[in-house]
Amino acid sequence: MNVYDSARMVELLTPLGYTVIDCAEDAHLVILNTCHIREKAAEKVYSELGRLRRAKASAAEEGRRMTIAVAGCVAQAEGEEMRRRAPVVDLVVGPQAYHRLPELIAQVERRQGGLTDTNFPVESKFDLLPDTRSPQGIAPFLSVQEGCDKFCSFCVVPYTRGAESSRPVAQILAEAQSLLASGAQEITLLGQNVNAYHGTGPDGETWGLGRLLRALAALTGLTRLRYTTSHPLDMDAALITAHRDLPVLMPFLHLPLQSGSDSILAAMNRRHKLDDYKERVAALRAARPDLALSSDFIVGFPGESDRDFEATMQAVREIGFAQAYYFKYSPRPGTPAAALACQVPDAVKSERLTALQALLNEQQRTFNRAKVGSVMPVLFDRFGRRPGQLVGRSPWMQAVHAELKSTAFGRLIEVRVTAAGDNSLAAEPLAF
Ligand code: SF4
Repeated sequence: MNVYDSARMVELLTPLGYTVIDCAEDAHLVILNTCHIREKAAEKVYSELGRLRRAKASAAEEGRRMTIAVAGCVAQAEGEEMRRRAPVVDLVVGPQAYHRLPELIAQVERRQGGLTDTNFPVESKFDLLPDTRSPQGIAPFLSVQEGCDKFCSFCVVPYTRGAESSRPVAQILAEAQSLLASGAQEITLLGQNVNAYHGTGPDGETWGLGRLLRALAALTGLTRLRYTTSHPLDMDAALITAHRDLPVLMPFLHLPLQSGSDSILAAMNRRHKLDDYKERVAALRAARPDLALSSDFIVGFPGESDRDFEATMQAVREIGFAQAYYFKYSPRPGTPAAALACQVPDAVKSERLTALQALLNEQQRTFNRAKVGSVMPVLFDRFGRRPGQLVGRSPWMQAVHAELKSTAFGRLIEVRVTAAGDNSLAAEPLAF
């Protein structure tokens, strides 16, 4: 989401004469677009601001002004406190207010002293961002939904990104067309809780994600479609049948489970049980038999017993994942789980994480190895480390390396998989 937001900030500022440069030290304007998901996010931002303080002082010695803005979820969470702790910051702007950047930067540069805008404005930023996208490469992101009403007890998103809101269908289709016109082939729809999408359609009705995917799939030039991140309870029948009916919708889904224990899921306020998850997965696999799953897991959530953890291991064994992200629980200030008394000792969390990691890595290896010898289309969108090598993505999000001419860059090419590593595949083109 921050990659997408950063691109939109650039698009907002380009008409004012700003261009992106590589070195922050030489910039007139530095924007730190921050994420609050990882542990110690705020501390990392303050440490980066220390580096920028020195750069700003050097710029001042050269008679050059440097404006420093902090955007994103850390900005939202810290608010005014950020400028108090780091007076080098000129502007603090939350993720729902960055469409005001041109006006806010102008205000900051006109006056002495900084500015904070962490409001959740009544207007939607998407109504005020430029309609036409600048080229964003072959596989760009497209934000369709923001915020979350689920309030999982470990998560800061509902506080930093605000309530769930969905963009109107027409706006999304126009943005997708603009991306396709500038060379995109694969689009990944984004939302903190993307499958809770409920945007207004051109017919005045509320459309869910399944219906939106169907409309996007009909666009000329779109070869691949993905979406992330989903909540199991919002995986409705219309969305599941979209997986059955739309060949452009890739057979890979990130569907976080977090824990295999119903009592931990309840403590997490996930609002679903393990069986709900399994039911959705069974329906998805019936609709799209080659669908592969990815998930997030938290180990050592407050109160997690050995039995709860074993339930997670058992769920992973039963369901099977092609990829996963796993974390030791760490408290996020201001979230309900951070205040729970029954925190799990770090040594126990580490032990559990190692066991879960070994199981998930083994599943990923098995999934990758099963692809050796098979033929699949790969969209090559990166140059490899070695000369003559291109890297792309398989339909299942695996990185695929192949020896190919540079003219293959940006193309969807049929390859035969020759070898599988833990995290990637090697392949040879069938004809190119
Ligand atoms: S559904 Fe996802 S974004 Fe929403 S509160 Fe839970 S973890 Fe956070």
